Amino acid sequence: MKIGVLGAGQLGRMLALSAYPLGHQMRFLALSEEDPSSLLGKTFIHNNNPEMVSNFADSSDIVTYESENTDVTIVNEISKNTKVYPSDKSLYISQHRGREKALLDALKIPCAPYQIVNSLDDLKSAIKNIGIPSILKTATDGYDGKGQFLIKSEAQIDEAWEKMSGVDAILEGFINFKRELSLIAVRSIDGSLEFYPLVENSHHEGILRLTIAPAQNISVSLQNKAQEYMSSLLKEIKHVGVLTIELFESDDDLLVNEIAPRVHNSGHWTIEGAQTSQFENHIRAITESPLGQTTMTSKFSAMINIIGVHGPIQKVLKTKNAHLHLYNKAERTRRKLGHITLTSNSIDELNKTLDSLKEYLP
Ligand code: AMP
Repeated sequence: MKIGVLGAGQLGRMLALSAYPLGHQMRFLALSEEDPSSLLGKTFIHNNNPEMVSNFADSSDIVTYESENTDVTIVNEISKNTKVYPSDKSLYISQHRGREKALLDALKIPCAPYQIVNSLDDLKSAIKNIGIPSILKTATDGYDGKGQFLIKSEAQIDEAWEKMSGVDAILEGFINFKRELSLIAVRSIDGSLEFYPLVENSHHEGILRLTIAPAQNISVSLQNKAQEYMSSLLKEIKHVGVLTIELFESDDDLLVNEIAPRVHNSGHWTIEGAQTSQFENHIRAITESPLGQTTMTSKFSAMINIIGVHGPIQKVLKTKNAHLHLYNKAERTRRKLGHITLTSNSIDELNKTLDSLKEYLP
């Protein structure tokens, strides 16, 4: 099939790298010819040109997207003539924190206490209900910790509201979580589901730096609970493709923080660490093919993000059981340039290898 991706970043690139062995062709709606996927398929440069969007759609049998910040109106327009998976519903919900939380409430899935905030007065009354510390977040367009303000005292309320620059926002109670986890699953058009194991994620300055798969010391009941939340979300929105939920673990309970209707950075380890990667499973789902097994290829896996600078790449290439992925991006502060996957059957060996690559871990 001819698969079109809205966006051409590293996620589109890794989707392409998993789609080619299955015999598919790729198209990208890109911002520039320098985008990480742009040499991996026929590329249409967007430039806010509606004709380019329709040329892109006309040349695709099926369209998907790599970011929840994709313009819903473009997806609606394309879906008049071309199938788009996941649907505009998955996109519409996940690009607004308020809509996301309303869905979680409707499905009785726990999340942090929250209140929608559209003015300084709203913020003051939300603080009365939720208390301090709390986090004010823009309702849309936030990623990698951007658009957030941690309110630690009442003296910061005015400043926090000013930082939102008048956009819709949401105040969330601060959760004293033990760990941050995520769950990735895939749903096919016929409704079959596959789940990857819960993984543990470590962030620095709002950016994911390290994922450990599976998350250690997870009880069967906690994995099941996460899968139940995931199943009810997938079924409710009739999602097709990969869906990710980011979770806070606190005292053997789980709270959902965010939903991403796409392949996710915390699932990059699956390229070498699982029988079928999240990318391949997404491609299988949207092309109406059977899903692949999500079991791990070794007992443990880790994913280290390469952020800002490429670092000692030769050393990575010499490291046993390390797999390097570079995204063809120039170095820039806070930019995701690539990742390293480690696989091992021993947690001690995995930890030793992580230690030997500590230049990459803040
Ligand atoms: P987000 O953009 O919602 O994924 O938030 C970025 C990071 O901020 C998360 O990965 C957490 O480390 C932290 N964070 C977000 N929301 C909360 C919260 N309600 N309580 C505590 N920490 C949070």
